Amino acid sequence: MKPAQFETHEPNTVEEAVSLLESLDDRAILAGGQSMVPMLRFRLAVPETVIDINAIDGLDYLEEDDEWLRIGALARHADVEESDLVAEQYGSFADTAPLVADPQIRNRGTVAGAIAQADPKGDWGSVLLAHEGEIVAQGPDGERVIPAADFFLLPYDTTLDENELITEIRVPTPAPREGSAYHKLKRKVGDYAMAGSAARLVLDEDGRIETATIGLTAVDITNVRATDAEDHLEGERPGSEVFKRAGELAAEQSNPESDEHGDAGYKERMVNVLTQRALGDAAERAGLVKRRVSQ
Ligand SMILES: Cc1cc2nc3c(=O)[nH]c(=O)nc-3n(C[C@H](O)[C@H](O)[C@H](O)COP(=O)(O)OP(=O)(O)OC[C@H]3O[C@@H](n4cnc5c(N)ncnc54)[C@H](O)[C@@H]3O)c2cc1C
Repeated sequence: MKPAQFETHEPNTVEEAVSLLESLDDRAILAGGQSMVPMLRFRLAVPETVIDINAIDGLDYLEEDDEWLRIGALARHADVEESDLVAEQYGSFADTAPLVADPQIRNRGTVAGAIAQADPKGDWGSVLLAHEGEIVAQGPDGERVIPAADFFLLPYDTTLDENELITEIRVPTPAPREGSAYHKLKRKVGDYAMAGSAARLVLDEDGRIETATIGLTAVDITNVRATDAEDHLEGERPGSEVFKRAGELAAEQSNPESDEHGDAGYKERMVNVLTQRALGDAAERAGLVKRRVSQ
């Protein structure tokens, strides 16, 4: 099917894009187009105007400062995949990028677009939740920062205002003795997750778990935190027994639906296994994050 006709605007600045959002009634933002173009083609979206943000300069960054890893709204999945900084310090991001879709989609699709799309099967939402990240949005009244925990409402529905443009996704730089990881089960290469688990651990000087954060993919109506498992882990020493119980608690708290790829019980068991694996890798990496420990 061909898309219905629409006009296109290509703003050169964030301000111009926001002003278009405010002045036009029936419009949609286009970033990488990897979700939007299929929606246009199948007429799931029939906007009068498409605001293509790709001509906005300076939004394609992936950089770190003292506080944050900052991912600009036009940074592609492939930019994360190819980043040495990510490979060295952000285990769950390094795990996730090559697991998103296929190389063609990763070359165009953006992390911010995936977060805006709010597909519960999307991988970045759970990683962002596990890192207690934030969404930076620009609207007519200025900038607004939305914690990931407050962002996802329903499948494809978020707390982003209709006149706001996401300009940046950001996560805190790793603490000393922090490690993270992402594990995903998919039917075949390039597929969305049947289940996924992102885990982040911060150990104290004594080697106990000071902070545990876990985000789950594709097993509820949005990406969700596995808070019971997190509570169980905090104060414990990392190890297979404590991770086993955390996996069980994450599975109990998940709420997957049966579909053609597997029934709900199978997916719950997968949440258990994937969470244990993500925790194991996160714990190992927590011992390997040397840079800030030695500062
Ligand atoms: C076959 C296929 C397989 C896929 N597999 C996976 C997968 O395994 N894991 C995964 O996580 N994702 C997967 N995706 C989704 C992929 O990650 C997309 O790139 C992503 O969902 C959308 O990013 P985009 O930049 O292409 O956004 P677009 O398609 O351009 O936009 C998506 C939505 O976000 C809005 N939007 C985009 N940018 C902004 C912004 N800056 N501010 C406000 N709103 C914005 C758009 O208006 C639109 O509603 C898959 C997609 C396809 C087609």
